[in-house]
Amino acid sequence: MSQPTTTGPDAHVAVLAFPFGTHAAPLLSIISRLAASAPHTHFSFFNTQESNNSLLSTHKHYFVPNLKACHVSNGVPQGYVLTGNTMENIELFMKAAPDNLRKAVAAAEAETGRKVSCLVNDSFLWFTSDMAAEMEVPWVPCWLSGSNSLSAHVHTDLIRDTLGVEVSQRRSFQSNISTSQRATRGALPWLDRQKPASVVYIGFGSVSILSPDELLAVAEALEARKVPFIWSLKKSLQEGLPKGFLERTKSDGIVVSWAPQLDVLAHNAVGVFVNHAGWNSALESIGSGVPMICRPFFGDHTINAKMIEAVWEVGITVDGGFFTKAGLLRCLDLILSQEKGKKIRENVRNIKHLTEKAIGVGGSSTKNLKALVDIVSRPS
Ligand code: UDP
Repeated sequence: MSQPTTTGPDAHVAVLAFPFGTHAAPLLSIISRLAASAPHTHFSFFNTQESNNSLLSTHKHYFVPNLKACHVSNGVPQGYVLTGNTMENIELFMKAAPDNLRKAVAAAEAETGRKVSCLVNDSFLWFTSDMAAEMEVPWVPCWLSGSNSLSAHVHTDLIRDTLGVEVSQRRSFQSNISTSQRATRGALPWLDRQKPASVVYIGFGSVSILSPDELLAVAEALEARKVPFIWSLKKSLQEGLPKGFLERTKSDGIVVSWAPQLDVLAHNAVGVFVNHAGWNSALESIGSGVPMICRPFFGDHTINAKMIEAVWEVGITVDGGFFTKAGLLRCLDLILSQEKGKKIRENVRNIKHLTEKAIGVGGSSTKNLKALVDIVSRPS
């Protein structure tokens, strides 16, 4: 191992990921684009071994030659027996993360012989501002959700002072605060056999879980409407489906434990996406021009669902914020058959075109990416 140099022509960016939920993959996707645009800059992607392995199995192509996965301890003490509660994993990781990340960064500096010249991180790792200050390098926190939910965090005090704590919480601007998944490719040939814009795609991301009552309500609504569907539902939850549901609906739809969501949404047979208003799902749906029916669960879901329904007008939220058979049937009718649904479908197609412009030559996202490349690729 060589000693790290403090100067040098090439920059070294330390990227610190938050290894839970759908956080690491979108960060890696941004970093991969940055790395491809700055081939002389080295990027070390610090993440737990479990999460890195998952990314390497599903997103290997993101690891371009100047972007290397570096493992950081998950913070679980030796011999500790986990209860299976995700919050426990998060707490253990966060408690140990400042020390573990400092050590991992020092090891990567020694191994590459390059001092870190910029720190990029998931904003959930709030302590990294101190790390960047100690290292005297630029600090680039990445908020991997919508700017609306970031704004709710930044203005929490103002919102609480103006509306009172209770009303703020009731309006749910924001509430509190994975797994290696192999997609079921069989969903795509099945979609090829369906009529354009006819299929209901149902999926609630990697964390959110329907209660047994709501699971039943969704199954009953699908069965009653005889609509073609693809339902992404974890294997363990499929046991909660009504008896005989899979057999009775086998000519109408398919249930998979993990769907190739981007490909599914991009397929012209998909007419509506029933989801939890997770940020990635919302962006992917808009990017594919698919209207949404939202059932928000926690975190930024509620504010995202409000943007989807009231601001962008590209979807609706289920009545009362949870599924009933009648409520879902009303939403499906509205989106797939009614005049209001036609307008919503038009809106989402228009926003899809705007997003295409933003990432095209001279588009706003393209310009932002270029500005970010300039910041992170400056040598120290
Ligand atoms: N996803 C997928 N297949 C599935 C369900 C989800 O590929 O069957 C992906 C989806 O494309 C998205 C991510 O998982 O990129 C979910 O992210 P989101 O922010 O919507 O929800 P979270 O998992 O963070 O709750």
